[in-house]
Amino acid sequence: MTGERVLLVESSNDARRFLMQNVLEPAGYDVLCAAGGSEGITLARDLEPDLVITAHQLDDQDGLAVLAALSELDVVPPVILMVANGSEALAIEALRLGAADYLPKPVSAEELLNSAQRVLSQYWTQQITQHVPDQLFEANRQLEQRVYNLDTLVQVGKRVTSLLDLQPVLDQVIRAAVELTHAEHGTLLLLDKTSGELFLYAATGEDDLTPEQFRLPVSDSLAGQVVQTGQPLVISGDELLKIKTHYFARSLAYIPLVIHEQVIGVLGVTNQHTSQEFDAYTLQLVRVLADFAAVAIENARLYTASEHERSTFDTILRDTEEPIIVIDTAGAILFCNPAACRIFDIPIDNYQGIPLADVVHHQDVLDLFENPVRSGHSRVSEIVLNDGRRILNAQLTEVDDFGKIAVMQDITHLKELDRVKSEFVTSVSHDLRSPLTAILGYVEMLNRMGPLNDQQRKFIERIIFSVQSITALITDLLELGKIEADFDQNVEPTYLNLIVRYAVEGLRHEWEAKHHQLDANLPDNPPPVLGNPLRLRQLVNNLLENAIKYTPENGWIGISLEAESEFLVLRVSDTGIGIPQQDQPYIFDKFYRSDEAIDQYTGTGLGLSIVKGIVDQHKGRIWVESHEGEGSSFIVMLPGAGLKPKP
Ligand code: ADP
Repeated sequence: MTGERVLLVESSNDARRFLMQNVLEPAGYDVLCAAGGSEGITLARDLEPDLVITAHQLDDQDGLAVLAALSELDVVPPVILMVANGSEALAIEALRLGAADYLPKPVSAEELLNSAQRVLSQYWTQQITQHVPDQLFEANRQLEQRVYNLDTLVQVGKRVTSLLDLQPVLDQVIRAAVELTHAEHGTLLLLDKTSGELFLYAATGEDDLTPEQFRLPVSDSLAGQVVQTGQPLVISGDELLKIKTHYFARSLAYIPLVIHEQVIGVLGVTNQHTSQEFDAYTLQLVRVLADFAAVAIENARLYTASEHERSTFDTILRDTEEPIIVIDTAGAILFCNPAACRIFDIPIDNYQGIPLADVVHHQDVLDLFENPVRSGHSRVSEIVLNDGRRILNAQLTEVDDFGKIAVMQDITHLKELDRVKSEFVTSVSHDLRSPLTAILGYVEMLNRMGPLNDQQRKFIERIIFSVQSITALITDLLELGKIEADFDQNVEPTYLNLIVRYAVEGLRHEWEAKHHQLDANLPDNPPPVLGNPLRLRQLVNNLLENAIKYTPENGWIGISLEAESEFLVLRVSDTGIGIPQQDQPYIFDKFYRSDEAIDQYTGTGLGLSIVKGIVDQHKGRIWVESHEGEGSSFIVMLPGAGLKPKP
């Protein structure tokens, strides 16, 4: 090894210079020289060389004396003794006094360098074996301590995420804080926002602190200071620190517990008997523990909140009288409430994960879940229970990546009311027809009775208009009654393109009178639908009449027909007044009319109910797409008859 410091003690100037310049320095040693024994001892004491090479014969004393003196130093260097007239006794004495090597003069350069190298290497080995183990042991101990600390943090961290019961987690946090900091006490204080006080949630140590006793005002306490500033507080020294009345500490470290940038409490370690300081490393550990505690508190809070929500929701679902069935995307049942289990004979304890069709044998329910739902929309259908008496109104909603939810409502009594009402309306309508015809007849006769003045003529026109309106209403009501009673059993393959053409021509007078442009886009040979031609004509007529009526003059009307897989899609569009978003769900209800329609257009509010009734009769679907002020499109999907297109 080079660069080691060698002290050469030699009284002969020539020998000293030769050994320094020609032997030791070229070999890389850093050479110090002394001309005598006492100078050599002084240099060895002050400069602590790694090796001393001394001649035995020196001007002031001999090499053995130098050896003896060097062995008294605090740091004893290895010594090589060079002797001119060696004897065995001298060699023994030199070695007894601690000489590392003994070289009889004349010493060759090679001998000296070999000896120096050997001695130094033995010396370093000895140094390493004597001193380094202590340092290693200490480093090892510190390392073990750190590993232990980290392990403690990992253990606490694991529990923080795995446990939702808060108290044991926080107890463990406190114990870990005390253990890692070697403090006497640990406290975990949480902020009570209503009282503005910190109360004790968990504590360790000899003190038997109880939460009742231990409440600290945020405005006037050291822990409160941490809440207010959001910064840790670390104090140690000679002064006693007042924590609360009759409760003092000599040193403390308070770390804030922070959730979403809000301080919710304080984790503290304190010493009452010693004023031990908390170093940066241990404080870092406590900070990590404080973060764990904050996460655990937040977890527990969220868990309690979600549990509460879940159980409320559970109670609502369980106690509701309306049957609810939920299935996953694969068609297996996720949930049935007791009402659904009762009505559809589903075993209440054994339905989860079972395919719906294996447990529910009611065809209407299976159809409800089977038929496609447009995403973001729900589908409504009626389910007649097996007793043939009760009727449920079922609403099915599809939730992406989750499944389908059906909520059902018993509407038996509403249906019955509706039936009674329809019967009443039908019989009243019939009864009204004859008197109305009579009124019209007499009013027309008035014209022939003699000249009428202008006012009389105006009155007669109003009577005729009103009677015609009532007659239209009665006709619609009777039509609807028939459709709802499902009287139309006569179905046949019907070609919608022919029906549409017929309607367009039939209403030509109306749409031309309003100067509308009408575009009909019809395939020549569409497949037929299986239906009642009269009703289908009524359907197309009503939609076309509405488009003409609700489109101001010079508008555009489009009517198209397309075959899509096994369906026929009819679309009637216009650039009319449009339907406000909030009215759209109700326009197929009987008598429902938008405000603008009521104000500016005559009508009964029954046309679309008749259309919807006919669509339902034909197992089809109808919906509207409309923007107020821009126009509307009514889309009807009817199942094809499964026959080939007309050649
Ligand atoms: P009526 O036309 O006799 O009022 P309908 O049942 O045919 O009754 O229509 C119900 C309501 O739906 C209408 O009053 C009107 O508000 C709205 N509506 C129907 N068709 C259209 C349309 N093409 N454009 C704008 N609004 C329409």
